[in-house]
Amino acid sequence: MKENLDWAKLGFSYHKTPYNIRCYYRNGKWGELEIHSDETIPMHMAASCLHYGQEAFEGLKAYRCKDGKVRLFRVDENAKRMASSSEYLQMAVFPVERFIEAVHKVVELNAEYIPPYESGASLYIRPLLIGTGAQVGVKPADEYLFVVFVTPVGPYFKGDGEITMCLERKYDRAAPHGTGHIKAGGNYGASLTAYVESHDKGFDGVLYLDPKEKKYIDEVGAANFFGIKDGKYVTPDSPSILPSITNKSLCTIAGDMGLTVERRHVPLEELSTFEEAGACGTAAVITPINNIYDPEEDKTYRFKTGDDTWSHKLYRRLVDIQYGQAEDKFGWVTVLDSIR
Ligand SMILES: *Cc1c(COP(=O)(O)O)cnc(C)c1O
Repeated sequence: MKENLDWAKLGFSYHKTPYNIRCYYRNGKWGELEIHSDETIPMHMAASCLHYGQEAFEGLKAYRCKDGKVRLFRVDENAKRMASSSEYLQMAVFPVERFIEAVHKVVELNAEYIPPYESGASLYIRPLLIGTGAQVGVKPADEYLFVVFVTPVGPYFKGDGEITMCLERKYDRAAPHGTGHIKAGGNYGASLTAYVESHDKGFDGVLYLDPKEKKYIDEVGAANFFGIKDGKYVTPDSPSILPSITNKSLCTIAGDMGLTVERRHVPLEELSTFEEAGACGTAAVITPINNIYDPEEDKTYRFKTGDDTWSHKLYRRLVDIQYGQAEDKFGWVTVLDSIR
């Protein structure tokens, strides 16, 4: 363990760790996995990722558990999602098996940076794929680099564990048939103005509406949205939403716990009928939303939070599975046996 790190004080930010893993795609094929300790990437100034946004990324966590073991959650899903993101961006696809191997390896190499059990922190794993081939005309690059690094992180949202959102009436993060469904860095570049303006007004983030009609709820900047009412877990279905692995898991868990699961268009008018609302994702886990403000109507929607909610029960079950404290009946968890 790293003695000099105050795990409980960690926010969601970059902290240097000793090793990262890289793999280069050149001459039509992927090379070997390489171990690096340099934090920088030497790159051609005409690399396609710099000019034309050929970049996709992923995010998952490694958990140090009560039984001393280290666990990963649904890493195969992240591998597959990166493959579909890279296909859409016309990038060389990094094979699923090698993605999993690289993630295992980078966690093992940096094992002393996995925060201890109950510190409130975990090891965030960030795989990325970039076009590195020099390109001035707009077309896919011929060289790519896969990198995966890790960094210990605390909670994604600062504060008391509840968030206040603003309905985003002005900006979209993605176009109706654009890149919203893939994890492309460009979507985040496009979301920064909305992010800054909402934070300047004191909100923790924005809730996007569907970019075509602005009639339905899409998602929260870096997390999916769900609402709960009348024994139902309701989450929006839209082509511009990023398919969250956490949300997909919560749909399964919610069904297993006796809630009816609905994944469908969620009209804005329905917001007032939800008893609870939440943001879910790897970084957010489940963060309860206490208020959503609509600047157009000058109206605030309020939701129930606290221990006596479905959101809290779902949170507990999800985290218990991730930490090996509840039965892994869906086969979601990998134990990294090489780490003691
Ligand atoms: C990554 C991401 C999420 C959450 O996905 P998880 O697989 O649950 O981590 C939600 N929305 C957006 C826009 C994202 O990029």
